[in-house]
Amino acid sequence: MTYTNFKLDVDADGIALVTWDMPDRSMNVFTEEVMKELDTIVDRVTKDDAVKGAVITSGKDTFSGGADLTMLKRMFQLFHDEKARDQKKAVELLFENTGKMGGLFRKLETSGKPWVSAINGTCMGGAFEMSLACHGRVVSDDPAVKMGLPEVKVGIFPGAGGTQRVPRLTNQQDALQMMTTGSSLTASRAKAMGLVHEVVPAKKLVESAKKMIKAGLKPVQPWDEKGFKLPGGPIYSAAGANLWPAATAILRRETYGNYPGAASILKSVYEGLLVPFDTALKIEQRYFTKILQTTEAGMMIRSLFVSLQELNKGARRPADIKPTRLKKIGVVGAGFMGASIAYVTAKAGIPVVLLDQSVEAAEKGKAHSADLITKEMQRGKATAEEKDVLLGLITASADYADLDGADLVIEAVFEDREVKRVVTEKAEAVLKPAAIYASNTSTLPITGLAKASSRPKNFIGIHFFSPVDKMMLVEVILGKKTSDKALAVALDFVRAIKKTPIVVNDTRGFYVNRCVLRYMSESYNMLIEGVPPAMIENAARMAGMPVGPLALGDETAIDLAQKIMKAAVVDLGEKAVDPRHIELVNTLVDKYDRRGRKNGKGFYDYPAKPAKKHLWPELKTLFPQQDADKIDVEVLKQRFLFTIALEAARVMEEGIVTDPREADVGSILAFGFAPYTGGTLSYIDGMGAAKFVEIAKGLQRKYGAQFRTPKLLLEMAEKGETFYDRFNPYSVEGKKEAA
Ligand code: NAD
Repeated sequence: MTYTNFKLDVDADGIALVTWDMPDRSMNVFTEEVMKELDTIVDRVTKDDAVKGAVITSGKDTFSGGADLTMLKRMFQLFHDEKARDQKKAVELLFENTGKMGGLFRKLETSGKPWVSAINGTCMGGAFEMSLACHGRVVSDDPAVKMGLPEVKVGIFPGAGGTQRVPRLTNQQDALQMMTTGSSLTASRAKAMGLVHEVVPAKKLVESAKKMIKAGLKPVQPWDEKGFKLPGGPIYSAAGANLWPAATAILRRETYGNYPGAASILKSVYEGLLVPFDTALKIEQRYFTKILQTTEAGMMIRSLFVSLQELNKGARRPADIKPTRLKKIGVVGAGFMGASIAYVTAKAGIPVVLLDQSVEAAEKGKAHSADLITKEMQRGKATAEEKDVLLGLITASADYADLDGADLVIEAVFEDREVKRVVTEKAEAVLKPAAIYASNTSTLPITGLAKASSRPKNFIGIHFFSPVDKMMLVEVILGKKTSDKALAVALDFVRAIKKTPIVVNDTRGFYVNRCVLRYMSESYNMLIEGVPPAMIENAARMAGMPVGPLALGDETAIDLAQKIMKAAVVDLGEKAVDPRHIELVNTLVDKYDRRGRKNGKGFYDYPAKPAKKHLWPELKTLFPQQDADKIDVEVLKQRFLFTIALEAARVMEEGIVTDPREADVGSILAFGFAPYTGGTLSYIDGMGAAKFVEIAKGLQRKYGAQFRTPKLLLEMAEKGETFYDRFNPYSVEGKKEAA
């Protein structure tokens, strides 16, 4: 019999080599078809007396990325379709479907024939769960090999036996740590944890796996043997009593109860370890069925898996333009941003000319790359050879003639229209006519800057976030005249440097900064109302924001906030900024010289290490303080998420962002908008526009106009629409509405 996704060869010793190699896919994943074929293979190995055992490996560089989450998407669809008819039956159907993968692995494990997984490359999620169900696991010593159960990162958890097998192979603490963080393991770490049996040279992988079977590997898992004892001791033991109260407390500290998927890992492990294995699998399946029905899982899978991948693969790229092979990039301005942009470009293997006013300034910018890669080397993540190659790709220069031949130039000079105008003209004088010119401006509209260009069609915004080497998002900004070709080149560049792009129309603050300013502005309101500063910071983190708004204000600099406010007043008039906010930043900057982290004084104090930063004690004295016990922390949390989500809705209404996937993914990647919500718009969709509008109206009455609902939301509430209905990124109509 032949298979589409596997090859099966039985050798002279009667050992079947099952090679997983899906056609037309760069990576193996579990699909319904793969599961069906594997099921047939397990049957065949089990029934054929001539077959003594089986080794499963991959025919690709990596082993497998795990389950194809689009399969989950289909499962959701079936569930929702059935739910409309019969709620109880829908849940039963979901329960049945979620058990399929786990059932298959259990069948393999209890087949009576020994199975060994030969892990030749990255092995994640469902694939690692399958490997854990094998009786033996051999891993290649290639440093690129990683294993793990990352499901928690998309709001779910390992639901095909992972939560039961891992803590039966290693101690519970390590098991919980690995699964609740979703972190991946190196081969040696997995071996030390007892999750794999052998780490061998890549060339000897299959041979070693076969050897295990020939040496008489028992086709029975430890937990199916009589008298099995948990490696970390039972739940009800001194060790268990030490671990479990702390584990729940740590989870609470890390997640504030916002991630039901993570909490279910603890519940599955705790309850599962108290009962026999097959019952334990049922417990896991029940929790998994429950988690799949949560809003959090639905939203996180959509934004952090499906949409993220689609954007990375160029969902917004004009399809009719041929991909660009970028052979040379210019970066003008070798300061804070330009130096880092040059680094990420060279890291992607693209030659880059880094230009500043003097060769010294350009060299200083290049030295930043040397610093960054040296740090990588110290962490064992880069070699001396890679450093040489990287630095060899960066040419520091003060001569515009060196930009000749560049396919794309990114300007990152001072935030000053006149300076930018001169630079645009000088660069265009040497650039080939087809070259694309991009500005990294954070505040100046692209259409205005493009006036300095003799070819505004080729002019675009490529807005990076700091620190450039860590931040995964890039905003690509379209000026009025920007062509599809310029967009395609910009997106090809973003893809080459392995970042995620969102495409945004031209406006003051674009998308990300408009939202971030709302976040900070609401914290100013709270300060002025007399909410204790620590409560402001804690409420924001409890709402799911990674960094409190005051801490964020310090990172981005309070004097920058002051500059932005002043500029807004000049450009848009007095009403553009709340005068109390101007007074607050003026007091901090002008009276107390508190500019933020950069001068060691902001909303926080920054004492010398090892002391930790702490809120500036005097901050409390600026405004009469309310009694913390009388403040509803739930309302504070809501105010933060609402003020940002409302701004995102306005941005959609104005047509600045046109695709809800970009608003959602952008908000999580750029400023960590409560990831469990799936992003700014999914937060609204998750509770429904009607409920959102009702709450926003209440907040507006109590706290002010920042909570005013845009017309778009009122209309959506009336029609019962979601953003993904109205601006459906997959339908022609949705695209039209956005345009
Ligand atoms: P910076 O002051 O650190 O660097 C600017 C560099 O441009 C300096 O090295 C300066 O010598 C050089 N320069 C000035 N005039 C020049 C000229 N005529 N020719 C060549 N080089 C010239 O500033 P930065 O923080 O890197 O910001 C640069 C741009 O990036 C600005 O437009 C800013 O709005 C934008 N930006 C900044 C951030 C941020 O977090 N700092 C984030 C996103 C975007």
